[in-house]
Amino acid sequence: MKRNGEPEIRVGFYVCHCGHNIANTVDCAAVARYAATLPGVALARDYKYMCSDPGQELLRQDIQEHRLNRIIVASCSPLLHEHTFREATRKGGLNPFFFHMVNIREHAAWVHTDRREATAKAQALVHAAVRRVAHHQALQTKRAPIHPAVLVVGGGIAGIHAALTLADAGKQVFLVEREPSLGGHMARFDKTFPTLDCAACILTPKMSRVGSHPHITLWTYAEVAKVEGYVGNYEVTVRHKPRYVDASRCVGCQDCIKACIYKEPKFPDTFNAGLSKRKPVYLPFPQATPQVVVIDPETCIQVKTGKCKQTCLEACVDRRAIDFTQRETLERVTVGAIIVATGFKTFDASRAPAYGYGVYPNVYTALEVERLVNASGPTGGAIVLRDGRQPERVGIIHCVGSRDEKTNRWCSRVCCMYALKLAHLIKERTGAEVFNFYIDLRTPGKGYDEFYGQLLEEGVQFIRGRVGEVTDWAFMPEEEGHLVIRVEDTLAGYVRRIPVDMVVLAVGLEPQADAQAVRRLFNMSCGGEGFFLERHPKLAPVNTFTEGVFLAGCCQGPKDIPDTVAQAGAAAAEALVLLDRGYLEQEPNTAFVLEDCSGCKSCLPLCPYRAITIAPETERAVINEALCKGCGTCVASCPSGSIGQNLFTDQELFSEIEGLLAPAAAT
Ligand SMILES: Cc1cc2nc3c(=O)[nH]c(=O)nc-3n(C[C@H](O)[C@H](O)[C@H](O)COP(=O)(O)OP(=O)(O)OC[C@H]3O[C@@H](n4cnc5c(N)ncnc54)[C@H](O)[C@@H]3O)c2cc1C
Repeated sequence: MKRNGEPEIRVGFYVCHCGHNIANTVDCAAVARYAATLPGVALARDYKYMCSDPGQELLRQDIQEHRLNRIIVASCSPLLHEHTFREATRKGGLNPFFFHMVNIREHAAWVHTDRREATAKAQALVHAAVRRVAHHQALQTKRAPIHPAVLVVGGGIAGIHAALTLADAGKQVFLVEREPSLGGHMARFDKTFPTLDCAACILTPKMSRVGSHPHITLWTYAEVAKVEGYVGNYEVTVRHKPRYVDASRCVGCQDCIKACIYKEPKFPDTFNAGLSKRKPVYLPFPQATPQVVVIDPETCIQVKTGKCKQTCLEACVDRRAIDFTQRETLERVTVGAIIVATGFKTFDASRAPAYGYGVYPNVYTALEVERLVNASGPTGGAIVLRDGRQPERVGIIHCVGSRDEKTNRWCSRVCCMYALKLAHLIKERTGAEVFNFYIDLRTPGKGYDEFYGQLLEEGVQFIRGRVGEVTDWAFMPEEEGHLVIRVEDTLAGYVRRIPVDMVVLAVGLEPQADAQAVRRLFNMSCGGEGFFLERHPKLAPVNTFTEGVFLAGCCQGPKDIPDTVAQAGAAAAEALVLLDRGYLEQEPNTAFVLEDCSGCKSCLPLCPYRAITIAPETERAVINEALCKGCGTCVASCPSGSIGQNLFTDQELFSEIEGLLAPAAAT
C-alpha cells in the first residue's frame, strides 16, 4: 500500500496467544494468516507472549530487517501493554505513535465462547487496525517541568508519616490539617493493638518533628479551597480559618484559658467525644501540635457578640497573641504532587437504635471508651459509669455499622482488634467480667491472633451471635438495675440474656462526611461505599485516576495503623518518583483547534479537565496541552467540527470504522 507522495506502508502484524488467555478461544494462527493477506501488511506472526523480552526483541529486529514502518499488536488491553510495545517500536527505530494495539483478549477471547465467532471478530478488529494505522502520523511527546513541592491533606498518622518521609528526602511539604492540631484519631487512643504501645509515646515525637521540620510548612485549622492546574504544577488555594490567636506569638501557657470569663468549662469537648467540657478558648489536648490555643467562634462571647470583657486578652497583654480582628484568609501554593490523607469518621451509633445508644447513658461507643481509658481523658483514665461507679460486667458488641445489610456491608477491619484491646484494658483496670459479642473474629495481622489467644487466657468471654437488642427491661431478679444484652448464641444454639453495667459499641469506619466534596476538589473518584478509589487495587493501590494525586490511610478504606503507615510511605515514594524525575512526559494524544473555530464557547463547560479557554486576541478556543487528557469530549461536541485530536483524526477513525464494517473475507 502506498499513499500519495509518502513511502510505501509496510505493516508488521503480531498476534499474541497470551498463554491460554487468548489462544484458547481465538485461533491465533488463523488471525495471523488472515492479516498477512491484507493490503500493506508486510509481515504477520503469532507468538505466545508478545510482552516477554523475546517477543519485544522479535518486534525490534523485524522493524530493522523488514523495513517495517507501522506496527500492530493484537493482544490484551492497551492499559496494560501499550507503553511496552510503544517502547519496543521506538527501540526498533520507529516513531512510537506508528504503533497501534488491538485488544482481542477483552473484546474477543474473554467475551465469546464460540471459537469461530471469536476468531472472526478478532479478524475484523485486525482489519480495522490495518486500515487505521496507515493514517498514523509521527507524533512527539512533550516535557513539562515538575514543581518540587508536595501538598499533604490531612494530619492524621497517614499524613504525618507521608509528610515526614517526603521532607526527610529534602522535598518541601505543605501539610494542611483542618482541626486545630495534628494527630487525627490516633491522638485519642491510650494504647494501640496488638503490642499495647502507648499511642502518645509513638505519635507525639512524630507530631513534634512535623512541627519543627525545616522542610514542612504546617497549616492547622486550614482547608483546601480550590485546586487548579495539572500534575507537576497544581495551584492550590488554602483557606485559613480564624483562630483568633496569633500562632507566632502564642506559647501555649494557657493563661488565657484560666482568665476566660467562663470560670468553669461549659461546652462539650469534642476531642473527648463530648464526655467532658471545655471553655471557648482551649488547647485541643495536652500534646497538641502546634501548642497554640484556639478560640471557638460558636461559643466565645466576644466573637459572637463583641460584648465580652475580654479577660483572655488582658491575661495575654504581654504577648499580644489573642487577636479578635483575625479573619479568614486565602493563600496560594504551587505543588507538583498531592497526597490525600483525610481519614475516616466512625459510624453514628444512633443509626442502630436497637443497641440503645443515646437512650441508655451507659451505652458508649468505642471512641468514647478510648477517651475513658486514656490518662489525659475526661476521667484521668478511670473506667467508670456515668454515676462514677466502676462497672462489674461489660459487654462489647462487635460489627456495629459493619457487615450489616441495613447499614454498611463492608468489614471495617480494625474493630475486632480494637474491641479486643478495649476488652483487655477494661479487664486489666477494673477486674470486670467482659463479654465480646461477635459474628466472626478477624485477626489476620502480625501478632493479632496471638493477642486474641492472650485474651482467652485472661478469661475474657466470647459469645458468637449478632446482638438483637440492648434494653433495661428486667425479666429476672439478676437483671434488675442492669442493661440486658439479648443475643442468639449461635454456638450454644439458644437465645441468651446477659445483664451488664456497661455496653461498648465497636462502631465501624465510614468515609468522611465531606468525602464527595473532597473528591470533586481533587478530581478523584469514590468507590461504591464512598471511600476514595485507587487506580488499581493491586497494581496502583495509592494512585488515583488523576495524575499526581495519591491516597494514604483510611480515606481509601478502613485499615489499622501499621497498614496506614505502610501505605503513607508508598504514597510518599510515588510522589518522590514523580518529583525526582523533574519533568513530565506528556502524551501527544491531545485535542487541537482548527482555524475555523467560531469562538462559540460551547466546548468550555464540557471539558472535564478545564483545559479550554478563549484567546482574547483571536476570540478562538485554545487548548492547554498540559491539561488536556485526550478524552475527545470537545471534539465530539464542537458544532462546527473545528476541533481535532492527535491519534484520533477523522481519517484514522473513519478508516477504522470502514475496516470493521467491511472486513475482507476471513481465511
Ligand atoms: C475506636 C478505634 C480504635 C482504634 N485502635 C487502633 C489500634 O489500637 N491500633 C491500630 O493499628 N489501629 C487502630 N484504629 C485504626 C486507626 O484509627 C487508623 O488506622 C488510623 O487512625 C488511620 O489514620 P489516618 O491518618 O488515615 O486517618 P485519621 O486518623 O482519621 O486522620 C485523618 C486526618 O485528616 C484530617 N482531615 C479530614 N478531612 C480533611 C480535610 N478536608 N482537610 C484537611 N484535613 C482533613 C482529620 O482532621 C484528621 O486529622 C482504631 C480505630 C478506631 C475507630
